Amino acid sequence: MDFTAKQVTAAGGCRPTGRRHNEKRDKPVSARSGIEELINQTPFVDTHEHIIEESVRLGEPADGLYSCNDWAYLLWGYTRDDLASAGMPEQVWHRLLNVGADIDEKWRLLEPYWRYVRHTGYGQATRLTIQSLYSEEDITQDSYHRIHEKYLELVRPGYYEHVLRGVAGVKSCQVNSLVDVFCKTEYPDLLMQDLSIVPMHSQPEIENLCSESGRPGDTLEQWHSVIDWFFETYGLDAVAVKSQAAYRRRLDYADIPPEQAAPLWERYARGECLPADQMKALEDHLFRYCINKATEYKLPVKLHTGYYAGYGNMPLERLSDNPSDMCLLAAQFPDTRFIVMHIGYPYQEAMLALAKHYPNVTIDMCWAWIINPAASVRFVKDFLKGVPSNKLLSFGGDYVLAEQVVGHAVIARRGLSQALAELIEDGWISEEDARELVPQLMYGNAESLFPRLQAALA
Ligand SMILES: [Zn+2]
Repeated sequence: MDFTAKQVTAAGGCRPTGRRHNEKRDKPVSARSGIEELINQTPFVDTHEHIIEESVRLGEPADGLYSCNDWAYLLWGYTRDDLASAGMPEQVWHRLLNVGADIDEKWRLLEPYWRYVRHTGYGQATRLTIQSLYSEEDITQDSYHRIHEKYLELVRPGYYEHVLRGVAGVKSCQVNSLVDVFCKTEYPDLLMQDLSIVPMHSQPEIENLCSESGRPGDTLEQWHSVIDWFFETYGLDAVAVKSQAAYRRRLDYADIPPEQAAPLWERYARGECLPADQMKALEDHLFRYCINKATEYKLPVKLHTGYYAGYGNMPLERLSDNPSDMCLLAAQFPDTRFIVMHIGYPYQEAMLALAKHYPNVTIDMCWAWIINPAASVRFVKDFLKGVPSNKLLSFGGDYVLAEQVVGHAVIARRGLSQALAELIEDGWISEEDARELVPQLMYGNAESLFPRLQAALA
């Protein structure tokens, strides 16, 4: 089954063409089209999403993750971030993504800004989704009514299976719920779930987690028992653990013993606002407790690194410390598998060195293809020349809307095709090498890495 042939044709210009008229390059050109065809026929294991449950999408819009149910919802998330970066005022995109505005008003709000973002990775992913799912080339004055009708027509019971497996060409997704610590999904084989350790260690959510576990959390020992409960209850069903604490702090987790953390916890549990250094020490201790539990359950540890979602709030200096902070974790937890998410962009060069040096570090390209498609192509080429190929996970959409995964998957396939073809053309690998790498990079590495996927295959 060719997952993307239709999309790639519809997208136009998907295939890099710079060398196609050079007669001396006849052989590489045919290798390029052969690799592209193989990649279009090969499914991804999608290692990172935030997709909300289908039953939620079939209901009424209710919260920030599902703010409206019309064509503008396709802009929710990253495309909105680029619109804000291009200058769209906050009150305008609030209106654009609000359930109250009509679709004509929404087009009038979008139109002055759309031209500036339609060619970024985020904008292209949105357009490729629209092309693939609704057979419309772009959002225009002429098309937005039809896109709206086709958007509504698609949202039916069972449509996640069609969109994700049938069109995006993914075997399974790994979902980090932004609502639950562990989401008891309607589709456990399609939407495998991460266990979120953020509320356990980063500004711990005492009330929520004590309520769900039915255990008290007044002392550190009790809080450890609450964390234990989540691992005991969900650890065997989870595919990995996930933390995005890097949005708040560095990844420099010191080894703080329980004797030092216990009095800090008791003050925090009583509602005291701890000074920054004491809060860091407490979080350091709790993070390490969670990592040890994940290792005990053989769950890989996915850590957000690099670029921030949103706009107007990214301290690059802190991000630049991610690779060296990860060195300490990798060295101090040699039995833990760390998954460095988003290639640490824009510090991906240092992440190559990290992955090359530490046997327990894997790099995940989730989200990276649309943050910077060109840098991602270069990254794959550099990675394969410098780092063992079993340590790269090649795709995660990182979206809340299932539909948006489609456009991102087209970009990822295009980028992977370009990277492998250029490695062949430049004489670094043979076409046969590339043909071996395709299934390995698109699903094989993930199936070897995640015990939950191995169990599903058995
Ligand atoms: Zn994410």
